[in-house]
Amino acid sequence: MSRVAYVDGQYLPHRSAAVHIEDRGYQFADGVYEVIAVVGGCLLDEEPHLARLARSLAELRITAPMSNAALRVVMREVVRRNGVRDGIVYVQITRGVAPRDHAFPASARPILVVTSRRRRPADLRAVDGGVAVITVPDIRWQRCDIKSVALLPNVLAKQRAREEGAFEAWQVDRDGKISEGTSTNAWIVTPDATVVTRQADSAILNGVTRLAVLEIIRREGYNLIERPFSVAEAKSAHKAFLTSTVVELLPVVSIDGAPVGNGHPGALSRKLRDCYLTHAAATK
Ligand code: PLP
Repeated sequence: MSRVAYVDGQYLPHRSAAVHIEDRGYQFADGVYEVIAVVGGCLLDEEPHLARLARSLAELRITAPMSNAALRVVMREVVRRNGVRDGIVYVQITRGVAPRDHAFPASARPILVVTSRRRRPADLRAVDGGVAVITVPDIRWQRCDIKSVALLPNVLAKQRAREEGAFEAWQVDRDGKISEGTSTNAWIVTPDATVVTRQADSAILNGVTRLAVLEIIRREGYNLIERPFSVAEAKSAHKAFLTSTVVELLPVVSIDGAPVGNGHPGALSRKLRDCYLTHAAATK
């Protein structure tokens, strides 16, 4: 089945789908996006994703190109046309096409692009054995709560992780606290069995997976604190893990080459992952 993309009102073959060279997303990264999981043909946690998209648009004063009801139809149509049962749908909205000028154009029409692709099955080595992370300085702007397409610092940090044989890079703010990964939220479990993740301030993206896992932790009655934690605290944590739509929940077994706890995934991350997968399966 050949891939299909929705671009500004049209469903097009993926290979010929294109945007204008003066699209402000291309020239200024003036746009936002969402990645939503498709589970059994259904969209997982669609509401919080659409709420975050609306918030990102409002923060950047970009007008939504269509109603949420219409967007739901387009997303489903793209998923259907691509034959995706389990995968992701990608939604991107830019401020539109206009002659290059930093200030907002007087009248630009926002451009919506929607694509979808199948997801590879979870990497069982990562699920069972855990993953390595490195720490890097957080060189991003001060509005990381907006899911903007301006991802260059994340790209550079993820590349560094790759080159150092790690799965993810945890970004460290000027106070020595870990903000988040390049495309994941960061969590630790302290030696006294408290789960810690940074509060959703402007230093992190408030992950939809993060919100679902917070809910699970509260429901299951684990101790939880939302606060910043330092690199030193993470390195001396009992356990650590990361979350995102794409990887769900993966145990972190080393930070900068040093083992976290005994260097093996723990029962808690396994339990939380199972609960999250149950939550995902319930969407079908
Ligand atoms: N943090 C960053 C910087 C991200 O880019 C992402 C996802 O792309 C996340 C966290 C996790 O967010 P979600 O759980 O909504 O996928």
